[in-house]
Amino acid sequence: MPNSTALRESVHPLESAHLARLNSILESYLDQQQVAQCIHAYRFGAAAHVGQFRKSGEPYICHPIAVATSLAEMHMDADGITAAILHDVIEDTGVSKSQLALEFNNEVAELVDGVTKLSKIDNKSHAETQGENVRKMFLAMAKDLRVIIVKLADRLHNMETLGVMLPPKKRRIARETLDIYAPIANRLGMNSIRHRLESLSFEAMYPYRHAVLSSAIKKARGNRRKMIDTIENTIRARLQEVDFPCDVAGREKNIYSIYKKMVQKKIPLADVFDVYAFRIYCEDVDACYRVLGIMHNLYKPIPGRFKDYIALPKENGYQSLHSVLIGPYAVPIEVQIRTHEMHRMSESGIAAHWLYKSDPDKTRNFQALANDWLKDLLEIQKSAGDSLEFIDNLKVDLFPQEVFVFTPKGAIIKLPRGSTLVDFAYAVHTDLGNACVSARIDKQLIPLQTQLESGMTVEIITAEHTRPNPLWLNYVVTARARTAIRNRLKHIEGQEALGLGRRLLENELLAMNVQLNDISPEKITALLKLMGLKSFENLLEDIGLGNKMPFLVAKQLVQDDVNTHVKLNDSVTTQNRPLMIQGTEGMVVKLAKCCRPIPGDAIIGFFNPGKGIVVHQHDCHNHALIKKKQNNWLDVQWGHDATGDFATEIRIEILNQRGALATIAATISDLDSNIENVTVVDQDARVCVDSIILTARNRVHLARIMRRLKELSIVLKITRVKG
Ligand code: MN
Repeated sequence: MPNSTALRESVHPLESAHLARLNSILESYLDQQQVAQCIHAYRFGAAAHVGQFRKSGEPYICHPIAVATSLAEMHMDADGITAAILHDVIEDTGVSKSQLALEFNNEVAELVDGVTKLSKIDNKSHAETQGENVRKMFLAMAKDLRVIIVKLADRLHNMETLGVMLPPKKRRIARETLDIYAPIANRLGMNSIRHRLESLSFEAMYPYRHAVLSSAIKKARGNRRKMIDTIENTIRARLQEVDFPCDVAGREKNIYSIYKKMVQKKIPLADVFDVYAFRIYCEDVDACYRVLGIMHNLYKPIPGRFKDYIALPKENGYQSLHSVLIGPYAVPIEVQIRTHEMHRMSESGIAAHWLYKSDPDKTRNFQALANDWLKDLLEIQKSAGDSLEFIDNLKVDLFPQEVFVFTPKGAIIKLPRGSTLVDFAYAVHTDLGNACVSARIDKQLIPLQTQLESGMTVEIITAEHTRPNPLWLNYVVTARARTAIRNRLKHIEGQEALGLGRRLLENELLAMNVQLNDISPEKITALLKLMGLKSFENLLEDIGLGNKMPFLVAKQLVQDDVNTHVKLNDSVTTQNRPLMIQGTEGMVVKLAKCCRPIPGDAIIGFFNPGKGIVVHQHDCHNHALIKKKQNNWLDVQWGHDATGDFATEIRIEILNQRGALATIAATISDLDSNIENVTVVDQDARVCVDSIILTARNRVHLARIMRRLKELSIVLKITRVKG
């Protein structure tokens, strides 16, 4: 071990033993420089974890070394091994991601960061109820498959060293392992890791059952030795006879799968175990089928028990022929026939790719190998003529199209990629979406249009009497949010239009000296029929939306009405009774963007069919144009109690010098006004012209702001924009 001389003096004997073993494996497949990087990671990690110990009393660094060793046995690449050695430093020591990037490289930093993020999910999730979602979250978060594989190896070693923990904690970790890690290992085709995880979890969860079952299995195995040898020899002899040399091996069943079978099928051990299982390994696929024929010739197969997973592989790519035969003394014999290659794939799954395939191009990166693995699966499925759904699922998970985020209570919400906080709120509940005003991610306030990332914990902050912002429609991605926002806005608009319509109609009637209550229901019904409307509310809404002129409706309601005794004159207008507005009516009364009127300005309203009323300044330049086109205008006035912050626009010419705009901003803010937007309209070396949208309570307030600005030496000219 060339690097051992440089190691610390007082190294724990277990630590140096672990390290020596790792080193010798690394040297068998990595080049010198790569091995050096791994050893450097060890020193770095040992220094970071110094003073930390595992429950067993070993120095903490022994754990990451063990994790790295199991990955080295799979011939994982140098960066993967480096990350495995460092996998706990971000979580458990003060080392940061950027430090790792400096000390090693970006890839290593990303990998360790990825493992750290997955560890956080462990602590957060309520694995029992949402195993499937947590698994998906894992796969979606790990942009690099190595992260998952390091995490699996980490979990395996933790399971192997559970011994000293208290039983409840053991059980919790074991449950999580069964719910999350074992299925992921299965999904990646890594059966040997999966079986080890399952056996260890079973032992931790049910130590007594495990003890009883394993001693029973041992005993049964002893009793059956002779029978097993007899059958194995018979099979071997027959294969020899037909000159077909294959490897034959008795197969021992995984203790957890025996237990599961007993529970699921409610049968005693004897019934599960009363099967003799063998595996035959062949050179190629052709040989597999021929051996199958030979076996069916040797012992009679049990009908309905033959499965061809070579032609029709299992969804994780598993391939083999399975058959159950009737052996001597009528004992059932399970045989699995497969090629060596298939066997390796079934044991190591994705890892088989870099473990067994000699890749001529050593520079190919890990992701390329992972893609190879996916491609292989795809080929297998294609040749099987099977649906490709599994591959699609896997791709979706590994190259994520979805994000998984937590609610504050730890429930997991799945959303399409690109989803924002607003999508999240509506995904939880429509009411939550409708009432949301802001949000916190991992305790920090974040703008609502922020896109979600897997693993975030999202808390939506709500307020009463609020409404969805139409701008949300610009960035939500889920149909659910979009529809809910539209419905809600439509509903609010309907309500507001109704209220406005009633006011407009009452106003007109008042001008004719009529109360709305005085109008007979028959009269109203007749008018509704004439207009083809269903209800009086519909009519009011229509008026509020600007689809019907209030003056005309009022006239129709009053006309020919003998009870009202009103003499109508066609030239009657509503000029004498302007509509009072507050500017805060909502969606059916809008303040025009061209002239941005504020309380105190002389104003005029225009009906915008389907939308309501738009209020302009009397001397707005657009107003003249609109007035030419439209005759459905309405006299409006600011209500005396119109309060609030109204946006308005000023144009300001200032000296083009450093800090000028900051001075302007400070002055405006001093006068209790907010700047909503600043645009540079024009500038040269000396002068800069800016358009500023700011808030003002009314004309008096605005005048004060403009006067104060004018007093500044840098301000040359200031005007209000009116269309
Ligand atoms: Mn760990």
